[in-house]
Amino acid sequence: MVTATIWFVDLTSGRIWSEVLDEATYRRYPGGSALAVYLLLQHMVSGAQPLSPDNVLVFAVSPLTGLPISGQSRVIISARSPLTGGIGDSQGGGFFPAQMRAAGADALVFLGKAAEPVYFSLENGQAKLHRAEHLWGKNTGEVEEMIREELGDSKIQVAQIGPAGERMVRYAAVINNSNRANGRTGMGAVMGSKNLKAVAVRGTQYPKPQLEKEFKDLVKRGRTLLDENQGMQYFGKYGTAGLVEVQNARGGLPTRNWSSGYFDSALNLSGEKLYDTYLKERDSCYACMIRCKRVVDIPDRVDSRYGGPEYETIAAFGSYCGIDDLEAVSEASARCNAYGLDTISTGATIAWAMDCVEKGLLKDDGLGLKFGNAAAMLQTIERIARREGIGDLLAEGSRLAAQRLGAEAMELTSEVKGNELPAHMPQLKRSLALIYAVNPFGADHESSEHDGALSAGPGTLERQHLLELGIQDTLSAQDLSPAKVKFAYYTQMFYSLLDTLGLCQFVWGPSWQLYGPADTQELVRAATGWETSLWELMRVGERRLNLLRAFNAREGIGREADTLPKKLFKPLLGGGPTEGLKIEREEFQRALEVYYQMAGWDVSTGYPTKAKLQELDLGWVGEFTDH
Ligand code: SF4
Repeated sequence: MVTATIWFVDLTSGRIWSEVLDEATYRRYPGGSALAVYLLLQHMVSGAQPLSPDNVLVFAVSPLTGLPISGQSRVIISARSPLTGGIGDSQGGGFFPAQMRAAGADALVFLGKAAEPVYFSLENGQAKLHRAEHLWGKNTGEVEEMIREELGDSKIQVAQIGPAGERMVRYAAVINNSNRANGRTGMGAVMGSKNLKAVAVRGTQYPKPQLEKEFKDLVKRGRTLLDENQGMQYFGKYGTAGLVEVQNARGGLPTRNWSSGYFDSALNLSGEKLYDTYLKERDSCYACMIRCKRVVDIPDRVDSRYGGPEYETIAAFGSYCGIDDLEAVSEASARCNAYGLDTISTGATIAWAMDCVEKGLLKDDGLGLKFGNAAAMLQTIERIARREGIGDLLAEGSRLAAQRLGAEAMELTSEVKGNELPAHMPQLKRSLALIYAVNPFGADHESSEHDGALSAGPGTLERQHLLELGIQDTLSAQDLSPAKVKFAYYTQMFYSLLDTLGLCQFVWGPSWQLYGPADTQELVRAATGWETSLWELMRVGERRLNLLRAFNAREGIGREADTLPKKLFKPLLGGGPTEGLKIEREEFQRALEVYYQMAGWDVSTGYPTKAKLQELDLGWVGEFTDH
């Protein structure tokens, strides 16, 4: 029997209890994002404000988390987002997720608000709330050490907020291991609003697969696949930072607040440069052999416990801000991990502010907040984390800040539903225009496969993986025909499954990754003993996506929010291969309509139709979309 243990923590009363989710229900919502939104819809009242005690915060792992195979240690954190007003959804890796499951939890549900700061611990099935006044105001590295010392176990894993979450910066992150972030959509601000400083877990009851031989075969095959996959080897060596040069060469590196796709000094920010200079070592998540994580050490500037910058972080503090100083970018990354800030939204909001200052729309407290000024960028991070001066405005995120400044400032934003754009350009990879717009929690680069996968030739691993999902076309990156919409939708469903199963998208995926869709099916079968099919699993992904949309529909968020920033419809400037490129508005609108029809969503409202919900066994949420 595969069931889920859900711990409920009422922060208002201090009551803690656990419930078991039966196997049939768990199989419909098997962990991660699907389980989290299922629990939110069950326990959160409609209309609950994101930073009020009525919001509900869920941490969820999956039936695969903690098994000794690469790419399974991921935790999803979900709540109503203070950044978007809709569903919040963020993924993070490390060792916390595996420990959370070994400690005896498949999900943690936090209700209400504590009167004073607290932290929660779960150690081998023993749950407790602790006072946390003495931890309030401290950075993540310090708090992690203090909690481990207090609980007397150096192996305790801590997911926590920093000063930014305490001050409810709308894009505050939840940080574990001092260097892994559930970064997106402001889940740290929700924790701060509940006076919940940290969640500490420790367990020794690691799960075992139901079918041991099949599981071991899959692990063994992974080693062979890695030996044969040069792309994965490059990825392990240089991490996501290895993308900087690749993206720039194609004109796809967002530069100077997304006005250009080409940064002429990108070489100074490359993954190879990071590897040759400041990289101290490669790090991993629990049981993963890829070891893609960066650990950077720069004396007096970057403490290695705060890890190292990912591609997104390098772009956000580097090219977005016109800065080519890798030391400063590494320092920005470390500060965000210490203060608990999402690096994408922080960098993008600072880049937007630089643009506004240069155009005379915003005063900068004398910081000299102009493109290229690394010192001003670093000082602005400090101010955002503490909501001081200009930092108080920027802590609201670029959309809300721009609304206060007026229409000209709004024209300069790069966000969808309030969530700032990650560093993959829809002008170049056209399916992302669609996915950024329709994704329930705003622009996200990890919600579907990117267009380059469709250039894979016959007989390649990439093509084989795509064929397993029924995708046969070869299409250019800038195509946005119905065939491309189908590619976007099918791979979106698969990624939605990965976010439910808590699988790392660098290891498990529908294209260049180590394991493909058929392997994913095999993993689920070996782990749970369920005689499943790829058809059932794709429906799991689709069910999760529809639940997220239903959550938004319940709050009145639908088609009108499925838009793109105006600047994406204007030609790119600044040289490079994509100069002059833009998204065509009519083509985008046509693709949007085709997408809604494929997804079974009402074309006028963007809500899932009753028939689609019934097909997915979601009849019970139908009332939310029946406006
Ligand atoms: S590939 Fe990288 S991010 Fe993914 S699980 Fe492995 S080490 Fe972690």
